[in-house]
Amino acid sequence: MKKSEPLVFAATSDIAGITRGKAFPLSKLDSRLRKGVGWTPTNVMITCFDHIAPSPYGALGDLLLMPDAETAVDLDFGDGAPVERFMLGDITDLNGAAWDCCTRSILKAALARLERVGGVGLLGAFEHEFQFRGDTPAGPQGYSLHGFTRRRAFAESLMAGLEQGGLETDTFMKEYGDNQYEVTNGPAKGVRVADDAVILREVTRMAAQHHDDSVTFTPIRDTAGVGNGVHIHLSFLAADGTPSTWDSAGPSGMSSVTAPFIAGVLKYLDSIIALTAPSAVSYLRLTPHRWSAAYNNLGFRDREASVRICPVTSDDPAKIARQYNFEYRAADAAASPYLALAAIIHAGCQGIEDHLPAPAVTQQDLSELSPEDLAAKGYVRLPQSLEEALTRFETNETVCGWFPKEFPAVYTAHKRGELSVVQDLDETARCAAYEAVY
Ligand code: GLU
Ligand code: MG
Repeated sequence: MKKSEPLVFAATSDIAGITRGKAFPLSKLDSRLRKGVGWTPTNVMITCFDHIAPSPYGALGDLLLMPDAETAVDLDFGDGAPVERFMLGDITDLNGAAWDCCTRSILKAALARLERVGGVGLLGAFEHEFQFRGDTPAGPQGYSLHGFTRRRAFAESLMAGLEQGGLETDTFMKEYGDNQYEVTNGPAKGVRVADDAVILREVTRMAAQHHDDSVTFTPIRDTAGVGNGVHIHLSFLAADGTPSTWDSAGPSGMSSVTAPFIAGVLKYLDSIIALTAPSAVSYLRLTPHRWSAAYNNLGFRDREASVRICPVTSDDPAKIARQYNFEYRAADAAASPYLALAAIIHAGCQGIEDHLPAPAVTQQDLSELSPEDLAAKGYVRLPQSLEEALTRFETNETVCGWFPKEFPAVYTAHKRGELSVVQDLDETARCAAYEAVY
């Protein structure tokens, strides 16, 4: 008699940035890859606090969550616990058409637009910061060997887990904040960039659990400390695989695709930030002097800029062309990687379509400028609350037009439902509520 039947969890990363889904026996994998698992439209209104925001779908409708075998993660931590198995997937209607609120399909559409208008594909990676929960800091330890050693066992499980999850491993370090660490992975192509981010968050949580620990990716735990950023690195490849992000003759090295793309991201940043930094506490992190992002500016190696051109470590042009990339810093892990990346790519594509001129690199502390001086230079202070960010999103017709018809209203209704849960809480209680979730 069997004592245990291995299960596979089919998952979506939803509007709340939560990985949700259903499990089925591994023995039924072939048929589940063909027919998926049933899904319910109103699930999209389940906020991160497990409260259901007013749903336009009510009790009606049926969808399918179709696991994608390419994303299969099979994780054996070697501690005798069951193998962790999951797959990410797309949500379709019963005829197989992408559902308007499927975050992964939304990203696929954005990537198709990038190929159409820019003639390039995406090569990128998400960089994540996170903190161990409930652990008193053992003195200042930023970047220290001791801080690293305290978590070496966890980190080695994490690296093995990422490899088993199909990610290219890169670095792990003790970040600057209390009990804060950072993990990076190597770049991937297209939708896999965001798949990797979802897998990395879940594998990090699993690795911690297998070490009887718990981690949080919450945007900020306490305004006395630093935040947990998600920095999204982007670069472009031409159809034949040639790196297309850098041009030695371009402004700050930006190619003819990169310059208008970044200009588009900066132009629309205040209207897409509701999708990249989507929690009530995200805006506590996005304040000056936290090395996050407070204005829609481009920096050259400047960690206070919302878009930063990253350093390269060579003077060989072929190597520079491969290494040159830029990062979007106004994101956090409350966002589904699919939605955050889709919003950035659409904004960039709009910049390419509109032939926006190359943005200038800022070289000063923008928080020292008066609102008039900022406006004269074309900068805006980014929204300072989720409420404000949602209003900028829903009132920007261009931005809403990038998404499937039903999506903008569903998104804002979901997020307002989430806000209703925390509206009466003070800052400390709000931070605690989000820390419990992410
Ligand atoms: N913790 C910072 C943030 O919230 C980033 C620090 C860094 O540049 O690594 O984005
Ligand atoms: Mg960092």
